[in-house]
Amino acid sequence: MLRLRRFAAASLVCWVLIVCWSWLAVAADELQIWVGNKRHKVDSRERDRVPYYEIGDIAAGLGLEFVEQDGQARLSGPRGHLELTDGRGLVRFGTDYILVSHPLWRRREKNWYAPEDFLLKTLPLVLDQKLVKEGPLRYRVTSLGENRVQVEVTNLPDHVKITFLPAKKTPVRILELKDRLEVRFEGQLVTPALPKERPDARIVASLEFDSSDVYGVFRIVKGEQYYNFREYALEQPDRRVLDLYSPPASARVPSVEEVVSEPPVETQSIPSPARTQAGEQIPVFQPRQYGSVVVVDPGHGGEEYGVHPSQEVLEKNLNLALALRIEERLRASAHRGLLTRRQDVEVPLQQRSAAANANRSKAFVSIHVGGAPAISTKGPVVYAHRYFEANTAANSAGQYASTPAARKLVLWEDAQRSHLSESRELAALVQAALNPLFGANNEVVEAPLAALESVACPAVLVEAGFATNPEDLEKLTSQAFLDQVASAVAQAVTEFLSR
Ligand SMILES: [Zn+2]
Repeated sequence: MLRLRRFAAASLVCWVLIVCWSWLAVAADELQIWVGNKRHKVDSRERDRVPYYEIGDIAAGLGLEFVEQDGQARLSGPRGHLELTDGRGLVRFGTDYILVSHPLWRRREKNWYAPEDFLLKTLPLVLDQKLVKEGPLRYRVTSLGENRVQVEVTNLPDHVKITFLPAKKTPVRILELKDRLEVRFEGQLVTPALPKERPDARIVASLEFDSSDVYGVFRIVKGEQYYNFREYALEQPDRRVLDLYSPPASARVPSVEEVVSEPPVETQSIPSPARTQAGEQIPVFQPRQYGSVVVVDPGHGGEEYGVHPSQEVLEKNLNLALALRIEERLRASAHRGLLTRRQDVEVPLQQRSAAANANRSKAFVSIHVGGAPAISTKGPVVYAHRYFEANTAANSAGQYASTPAARKLVLWEDAQRSHLSESRELAALVQAALNPLFGANNEVVEAPLAALESVACPAVLVEAGFATNPEDLEKLTSQAFLDQVASAVAQAVTEFLSR
C-alpha cells in the first residue's frame, strides 16, 4: 500500500509538471535569452505562419547596437557588424553573405523581425560570447571557453611538418588559399602557443596567428618552393598534422598550363592520409588511354569563393565535389574527364578554356551553383554562349563577362562561334537531365559568357541549383544528391557524344 501511495504521489507530480510545461509551451511564444539568471524577453510575431523575433529585443539582450535607416539596418557587436536589408534573407557580414530561412521583416519603422535561425547563424559572428540553444525558444549567453593550441614544427628534407595540439577537441577547418593555408579551431577562443623552431622558409614563409578572426586563425604562408600539402588527425593526444611539401625531384603534377602543351595524362589528387605513410613519395602520373576527352571545369577556387550563403557552404567546394563525381562517372562510360582544378586554387578563365582546346576535348562543362538576389530563384539553369555585337551588354551571367580578365580574351574570343548549335544541343540535354532532380521546368539560357566564348568545342555552363534558395541548398548538402546531379550531367554528356 505504501508503495502504491508513493506511486500515486509520484504520478501527481508528473501531471503537475506536464500541465505546467504545456501551459508554458503555449504561453512562451516569446523567445528568451538568458544571461546568468537574468531573462530577456524577445517579442514574437507571426507572418505567413512563420514565427519572427524582434531584432531590437535580441540586440538589447546581447548588448549589441542596433541602428536602422530606410530599409537598412546594422547590428554591431564587439567582432563586427551584420548588415540587414528589409525583405531579404541574406545577411551581410563583411564580404560574406549568410542565408537565413525567411526574409527579414521591417514590421513598423523601427521594429525589425528575423526568423529564429537568424540567432545561431549570424550572431556568433559578431559576439565575443557563446550563444547556445537550451530548449525551445530558449537561448543562453555564456562566456567563451579558451582552447590552448600548441604548435610544433619539424623540418624534414622534403617537407615541413606542422603539428597542432589543441587542449580541447573542437571542429577544425583547413582551407587552402592562393598564398597560404588557414587552420581554424572553432567553437572556443584559441590561445596559440607558437613554436620556437622556425619552419624551412623555402616551403613555409611564415607561421602566424591572427586573433581578430572569430575564434582566431593560424596562417601558414607558402614559401617559394611550396608544392602541396596533406593533412591528417592523430589521437592520444589529439593532434592535427599538416605536411607541406616541396616539389618531388622525380615527379611533378602538371599544372593546367603544362597540360595544354602536352598530350593528355591522367591526374590524381593528393593521396589521402589513410593510404599514405609519412615519407612516402607522391605518386607519379601515368598516361592512360580513354575515349573522348571531356573537360570538366569546377568554377571558382582559392580566394574566389563563388556563392557563399553560410560559413559551411562555399560554391567553390560544391563545384569541385560535383566535378570530381562527374569525372568518375565519365570514366565508367569510357570517356576521360579532365579537370581544370583538383584543389582549392584559383585558375584563370583563359587556362580553363585552354585546357579544353589543347587537349582537343569533345565537350566542355563548367560546373557552378547559382546565387540570386531573390531567394525564390531555384532549380538548375544550363547556359550556352551567345555572341553579342557589343560585349558591354554581357551582364546576364555577371562576374564572367564583367571581369577585366574576360575583356583581354581577344585572340580566343571567337573560338566558340562554330560550335554554338552543338553547345545548345548539349545544354538542352543537360537541362533536361537535371530538371527532374530539382522538380523544375527550367529552360536553357543563352548569354554572353567569357567562361565559354574561348572554348573550341561544344561548351556549357551548369548552375546546379541556387545556393540562395533554401530548398535547393538543402538538397545540395546531401552527398547522395550530388551523386545524382553528377550522374545526370555525365549521362547527358555521354548521350551527346554518342549521337
Ligand atoms: Zn559560380
